[in-house]
Amino acid sequence: MTSNPATGRALTPKKVAAFRSGLLAWYDAHARDLPWRETRDPYRILVSEVMLQQTQVDRVLDYYRRFLEAFPDAPSLAEAPTSQVIALWAGLGYNRRAVNLQRAVAAVVHDHGGVWPANPEALRHLPGIGPYTAGAISCFAFEQPVVFVDTNMRRVLHRVAFGPEVPEPLASESEVLRVAAEVLPTDDAWRWNQALIEFGALQCTAKKPACLVCPLRTICAAAPGMQAALASVVRTPPGQGIPFTGTNRYWRGRIVDALREAPRHRLGALQLGATISPEFDAERLPWLRTLADGLARDGLIEIALSRAAASGGWAAHLPDRPARRG
Ligand code: SF4
Repeated sequence: MTSNPATGRALTPKKVAAFRSGLLAWYDAHARDLPWRETRDPYRILVSEVMLQQTQVDRVLDYYRRFLEAFPDAPSLAEAPTSQVIALWAGLGYNRRAVNLQRAVAAVVHDHGGVWPANPEALRHLPGIGPYTAGAISCFAFEQPVVFVDTNMRRVLHRVAFGPEVPEPLASESEVLRVAAEVLPTDDAWRWNQALIEFGALQCTAKKPACLVCPLRTICAAAPGMQAALASVVRTPPGQGIPFTGTNRYWRGRIVDALREAPRHRLGALQLGATISPEFDAERLPWLRTLADGLARDGLIEIALSRAAASGGWAAHLPDRPARRG
């Protein structure tokens, strides 16, 4: 299904009204109390948004609290040694997020005099800030009526307006964004965008949407065929996907973990190799160096020449200065 050629809209005005009232009522009844919903501080909202990328809410809560205890405001994070930021990120994964977060905050502190831009276009000029995060900060910190979609929001909008997104999406990204703009109540954008995210996380989930008890089922294009569409998707049985161990991302994570644990966050190359793999030997130094160079380009580690006999010629350490623009 695409938009109605007569109106250019995917949803009739009556359905838009029912969508808004149904979703907002559901949100008021079911929304979780989450700390980033109780603040309008753009720094705290950015921290939460970066942590929530690829990590579940339940896991993020504790990290969020500890991170803000260590770095309660933008200047404290901007001036911290990157090694300390990466150390605190241990267990969250995707360490690049920590460095990019610090770079974005440092840009606000140093390039904007500590004043956060409120509109998404300006926010996108900050290092590592994509369209979703820019929209989220603009809406959740400054209550701007901004259209943006993450995975949960996209799924809900697609299902309600077009139908099941599996086995293949029925609408393009731009069509979904057009629906997002159509349904956004501009006088209640903060609550609306929070509601879309929460609904996608709790009710209209990827694999088990609760269609039978859904307040939107009478207007949802996906409702009649959703369960059949999900059943038609061949899922990879657990453990039969591409093995994570052995991927570059796996080894990059091992290197950062080894440096996190090392005295002064520093290891000679041979020691580093032996720490991440018992099979490591000197012949694998070029492989290790390629991985280390990639991490250094991303600002996660620094590499220094080393004359120590057992080092392998170079050593790696977590950056002991604050991150600046990449
Ligand atoms: S009816 Fe099902 S697919 Fe449609 S919005 Fe509700 S939970 Fe999602």
